[in-house]
Amino acid sequence: MANLQATQTQVVILLGPPGAGKGSQATLIKEELEMAHISTGDLLRENIKQGTDLGKQAKSFMDEGKLGPDHLIFDMLFARVEKPDCKKGYILDGFPRNIAQAEELQKRLRSHDVMALNLSVPDSAIIERITKREICKTCQTPYHQDFSPSKVKGKCDLCEGELYQRSDDTKEVVEIRLKVYHEQTAPLIEFYEKKGALQTVDSNRSKDAITEEILEKLQPSTVK
Ligand code: AMP
Repeated sequence: MANLQATQTQVVILLGPPGAGKGSQATLIKEELEMAHISTGDLLRENIKQGTDLGKQAKSFMDEGKLGPDHLIFDMLFARVEKPDCKKGYILDGFPRNIAQAEELQKRLRSHDVMALNLSVPDSAIIERITKREICKTCQTPYHQDFSPSKVKGKCDLCEGELYQRSDDTKEVVEIRLKVYHEQTAPLIEFYEKKGALQTVDSNRSKDAITEEILEKLQPSTVK
């Protein structure tokens, strides 16, 4: 386990634009850190698949590349973090997405040890990364058709699940998601920096190099 304090519940927040590799890195570091991986996007996609009321609402804002209403996300997320696999710690991927969400998280996590990791990637690399991304339907592991393809075309290396392209991973929707990121999510970098709880990792490199740096950077830090 990396250098995190062992006494409190650990929360690692992965920040970064869409396509920065938050999901890939969370999948890679969760075992090492013995933490649950919580992706609000995955939770919403699961609701869409199950046809829940939340899923019906989520479909429209996700297809448009816009953020969903905070209260819906809070109910879904704060129910998830109560589960036993989160007791030791968890990695948040895709949450918080704006200042209001970060403030709410802070209120609820008074006694947790929080560290935000900013996965930094230039906008120019994002479209190429996302429009060639494939994701496993079963375990959500992401692949890239050119940079990290699956060994067997269309099948997950880990669980043999079917790979698919997300319906919001088109050039048009990604452009909106990037705009939303810069307007609403990027201010979180300063938010966590001011609290002394931010680390930045250059994520325009190989997956392994990024993982290594993330694990090195997870030093103790508590949001006040
Ligand atoms: P992601 O899988 O993180 O790229 O998220 C996909 C989509 O789900 C986003 O474009 C939003 O529509 C929605 N979403 C995910 N997380 C959040 C969040 N924390 N707040 C609001 N909307 C979210």
